[in-house]
Formats: sequence, structure tokens, C-alpha cells
Amino acid sequence: MNAREFLEKVQINQKIPTSTLIVSTKKDVEKLALSYAKGILCEKKTPWGCGECYSCKIFYDKHPDFMWIGKENSIKIDDIRELSNFAILKPNYSDYKVCLITNAQNMLKEASNALLKTLEEPPIYLKFIITADSLSNIIPTIISRSIVLEIFERKASKHFICDKLFSKSFYETIPQIDNIKDIKEKEEILDCLIENLEKLMLNKGFNEDIDNAIKSLNTTKKALQRGIRLSLWLLSILSPIVDKYI
Ligand SMILES: [Zn+2]
Repeated sequence: MNAREFLEKVQINQKIPTSTLIVSTKKDVEKLALSYAKGILCEKKTPWGCGECYSCKIFYDKHPDFMWIGKENSIKIDDIRELSNFAILKPNYSDYKVCLITNAQNMLKEASNALLKTLEEPPIYLKFIITADSLSNIIPTIISRSIVLEIFERKASKHFICDKLFSKSFYETIPQIDNIKDIKEKEEILDCLIENLEKLMLNKGFNEDIDNAIKSLNTTKKALQRGIRLSLWLLSILSPIVDKYI
């Protein structure tokens, strides 16, 4: 299960960890964290947010149950003091309040220690999402109080066919896929397509079509060993997405 799938599962099951620490050097990590926060606060409890309830509508516009620390530069003790004030009052619209701390590697030591006080005994409704580019600058007590998800960057070798499949030339490209014999290469293409779909979902918000396509591509990966005809599988999985969203 990758990080995105894990986060989706906890939202579906409503088992949101008190603190989720996402470690990634990818720029997209902020978007992922924001969508996750939106989903936690969604009044309909739709993973990644329904986009329709009041909480989702105001999410990007000073949501009173959402606080974002670390948008720029270092994280200072004053930011954490503000957090304590935020934490005291009960949520306005949902069952939860969310504090997002991005670039936690820039947190000054005294700020880390102050954060720990809230993290050790948070009010039941308060959830933390912390992102950092590595674990090395995060104090161990914060790590041990969090569910840690590490997102590794996939190797840069992007298969040339992947972007072609994710474009208007989908239908003319798809037959070429059966000329590829190497299973590793096919896996690489599927990974690349999954990554593109995940990006599409981050831009559009949760979408059942895209979610199902990601799940089907993961199943396809497992079926590769059986010598399936990949072009046909991809045609049925991706054509609805391409027709509708690309
Ligand atoms: Zn919503």
C-alpha cells in the first residue's frame, strides 16, 4: 500500500491518526497533505473532500478548523503558541480540527519542544499532518508520536509511451503496448500511469472514476506475470478516463 492509499483508507474507515508525518522530497507532497486535510474536515466524510459541503467550500479560504504552519521559512515558537490557542476551541463544522505543519525540517528546536506539548496530549478532535523532506531534522519524540509515511521518488526514467497514453493520442498509441515484451518495462509503464492518475486526482479532488482506475492498474500489475494482453486491459481501464478528463 502506498502513502496515498493508506491515507485514503484511514479516511474511509474514519481512523485518522492523531499525527501523520509524511516524508517526501516531492513538491506534490503539499497538495497531498492539503487534500488529506480537506478530507478529514469534510462534513460528509468523503475521502479527499466532497467539494460540496460548507467545510469543503471554504477549505482554501480561511477555514476556522484548519491551521497551516510552515508555509514559508522557519517555524518559530510563536507559530506553535498560536497553535495552542487554535487547539483549545472545539471544531466549528466537522468532528475534527486539523493542523498542517509543512517543511517541518525547518522547525527550530524550541518550537519542536513546544509542539511536543500539544502533540503529547492533544484534544481528541485535533489531528496533525506534518510534512518534511527528511526525518533527519525531526526530533525523535515527534517521530515516535506519528504514523510515518515515506514517499520515495520513482526513478526519473519515465517511459516514453506513458505520456502518449495520457493524451489525445491514446487510441493510436495503445496497440504499440503489445510490442513491449519485457515485464519490467510494462511494470514501469503501469507505475507511470498510476502516478499520472494520482496527480490528476490531486488536481481534481477525489473522483471515483480515477480512484477505480488506479485500483485496476494495481491489479493489472499483479496480473502481468500471467501474460495478459496489456493493450486490452489498458483500453478498458483508461478509455473512460481519457474520454472524460483528458
Ligand atoms: Zn465535503
